[in-house]
Amino acid sequence: MGGFVQAVRLQGWSVGARLLLINGLLAVALVFVGTIAWRALSAQNRAMSELALISKAARYHQDAGTLQADLRADVNAALAGRARTSEERAELLDSLDENSKQLRRDLLTLEKLDLPADLVDTEAKVQTLADLYLVRATELGRMAVRDPAAAEPLVRQFSDSLAALDAAMLKQTLAFSTHIVQANEDAAYAEANAKKWLITAGILTNLVVGLLVEWLSRSIRRSLRAVRDVAQALAEGDLTARNTTTGPDELGELGGAINGMADNLRDVIGKLRAEADRDAFGTQLVEALEMADTEEEAYGVLGRAMTLISPELPTELLLADSSRAHLERATAHPLAGAAGCTVDSPFSCMAVRRGSAVTFPDSEGLNACTRLRGRPCGPVAAVCVPISFMGRALGVLHAATAIAKLPTARQIAQLTTLGLQAGARIGTVRAFHSTQHKASTDSLTGLHNRRSAEERARELMTARKPFSVVLADLDHFKQLNDSRGHEAGDQALRLFAETLRHHMREHDMAARWGGEEFVLILPHASAHQALEAVERIRVGLATMLLTGGSPAFTSSFGIADSTMSSRFEKLLKIADEALYRAKDAGRDRAVIGSAKAASSADTQTRRAYEHPASPNMKKMSADR
Ligand code: GH3
Ligand code: MG
Ligand code: MG
Repeated sequence: MGGFVQAVRLQGWSVGARLLLINGLLAVALVFVGTIAWRALSAQNRAMSELALISKAARYHQDAGTLQADLRADVNAALAGRARTSEERAELLDSLDENSKQLRRDLLTLEKLDLPADLVDTEAKVQTLADLYLVRATELGRMAVRDPAAAEPLVRQFSDSLAALDAAMLKQTLAFSTHIVQANEDAAYAEANAKKWLITAGILTNLVVGLLVEWLSRSIRRSLRAVRDVAQALAEGDLTARNTTTGPDELGELGGAINGMADNLRDVIGKLRAEADRDAFGTQLVEALEMADTEEEAYGVLGRAMTLISPELPTELLLADSSRAHLERATAHPLAGAAGCTVDSPFSCMAVRRGSAVTFPDSEGLNACTRLRGRPCGPVAAVCVPISFMGRALGVLHAATAIAKLPTARQIAQLTTLGLQAGARIGTVRAFHSTQHKASTDSLTGLHNRRSAEERARELMTARKPFSVVLADLDHFKQLNDSRGHEAGDQALRLFAETLRHHMREHDMAARWGGEEFVLILPHASAHQALEAVERIRVGLATMLLTGGSPAFTSSFGIADSTMSSRFEKLLKIADEALYRAKDAGRDRAVIGSAKAASSADTQTRRAYEHPASPNMKKMSADR
C-alpha cells in the first residue's frame, strides 16, 4: 500500500523524469484518441466514396435509359415512314447508329464500375437484354427506313426485347435507388460518428492533459512543500528537522543540501554552545578558585567542580610531592570517588609528557595508556589532563569510567578547563606561600626571621596572652669562625637551629635574630618554664654535638616573660641584660632577667655595646 502511494506520488522521481513520464502518457492518450478519430474519418470517407460510385453508376444507368428511349423513338420514326427524303433516311440511320453506339458505351462503362454484387447481377442481365435489344432495334430500324411495311414482322420481336430490357432496367433503377438511399444513410451516419468521436477525443484529450498536469504539479508541489516545511522548521530553530526524501532528483538534491546545511549548523551551534558552557563553567571555576587561599580550599572547589562535570564520573587529582618525583592523590570526586590511576611519577604519565589532555576511548586499544588496563571494573574510557604551572608539571587530573559511559565532548572540555585552572590556582597558592615563607624565614637555618618573631610577639601582646622571650647567643663564635672557618660556623648555626626545632613545643617559636643570636618566644610559659625549656635545649645541643658534624660550641641565654613588662622592647632589654649576665658568669648557661636589673642606671646591657640592633619598634607600633 505504502509502495503504491509512493509510486502515485512519484517519490524519488526527478522533475525531468516526471515531465518525461507525463509526456509519454500524453503521447499514448493522443495516439489512442487519434486512432479513434482516424477510424471514424476513414469510415465516413468509405461511405462517401461508395455513395459517389453508386451515384455515378446511377447517372450512367439514367443515360442508358434515355438512349434506349431515343433508340426506340428512332425505330418508331422509321416504322411510321416519316423519313421520306434520302437525307432524312440517312439522318435517321446515323441517329440509330449513334444512339446504339452510345448505349453500348454506357453499358460497357457501367460494367467496368466496381459495383456491389447485387448491382453487378442486375447489370449483367441488363447487358444481355440490351445486347439483344440493340441487335433487334438496329435490324428493325434499318429495315423500316428502307421499307416500313417489310419490317412489320420484326416489330413484335423488337417490342418483346424492349419490354424485357425496360423491365430489367427498371429493376436496376430500383436497386440503384436502394443503394443510394443506403449509401446516403451510411455517409450521414459516418459523418455524425466522426463528429462525435472528434468531440469526444477533444474532451478526452483535454481531460487527460488536465489530470496529468494536476498530478504532476501536485507531486512537485508535495515534494517542494516537504522541503519548505523542513527549511521553515530549521529557520524556527528546530535543528533536528531533516528531509526524508533525498533521492537523486533535483528536489532530493535540494533536500540533501538542506540536510547538510542543517548538520553543519547544528555542529557549529553545538560547538558555540559547548564553548559558551565551557566559558561559563570556566568563569565560575576561576571565581571559585580565586577565593581559595590554600591548597586544601582549592581541592574543595575542584571536588565540587568534578561533581558539576558529572555526578558519577570517577575523577582524581594526582600531584607531585616536594621532590617532584612521586605523584600522590591530592583529592578525588566527592561522590564517584577516585579513578584509581597507578602512575607513580609525573613523567611516567603520557598526558604530562605530551603536555596536553589525552582521551582514551578504550583501555584495550593498541595506543591506550598501559595503566588503564586491568581495572576492577573492566575496560575503561579515560581522560587525562596534565596539571602545570608556568610550564612546570605539577601532576595530572585523571577521570576514568566504563567504556559505555565514555565522557562526552562537553565533559572532556570541562575536564580540560578544570585541569588548566587547577594548575593555575595550585601553582599560584604554592608560589604565594613560598614567597611568604621566604619573606618570613631565615635562609641559612630555615628558622623564622626577626620580622616573624616581632609579628608573633605583637600578636601575643595584642591578645594579652602570657609568654616568655629568650635571647640566645652562641659563645665565642668568633673564635669558632676564625679557627674552623666560616663554613664550620654556618654548620654550627644550622645545628643549633635544628636543636631548637627538635626541643621546642609546637606552638613555640624560634627565630634567628641576627648573626649568631636567636630569639625564642614561648607562649603560655613563665620565665621559669622557659628556663626549663632552655635547659632541655642546652642538653639537647650537647647531645647533638656528640654525634659530630660540627665543632663543639655552647650558647648563653637570657630570659624574660610578659609579667615583667607590657612592652616587647622592654622585655628584650630585660632578656638582653640577663644574657649579658650569663656571659659574664662564664657562658654556657641561662639567666632569668628582671625589670629592676635592666632599668638600673649603671647596668649596661650586653647588647648596648655589643649589638646596637634593636627590634623595629616603629613598624610594630605602625602594625598595632
Ligand atoms: P661571645 O661569647 O661574647 O658572644 O663571643 P662571640 O665571639 O660569639 O661574640 P662576637 O659578637 O664578637 O662574635 C660574633 C661572631 O659571629 C662574629 C661573626 O663572625 C660571627 N657570625 C655572625 N653571623 C655569622 C654567620 O652567619 N655565619 C658565620 N659563620 N659566622 C657568623
Ligand atoms: Mg653576639
Ligand atoms: Mg656570641
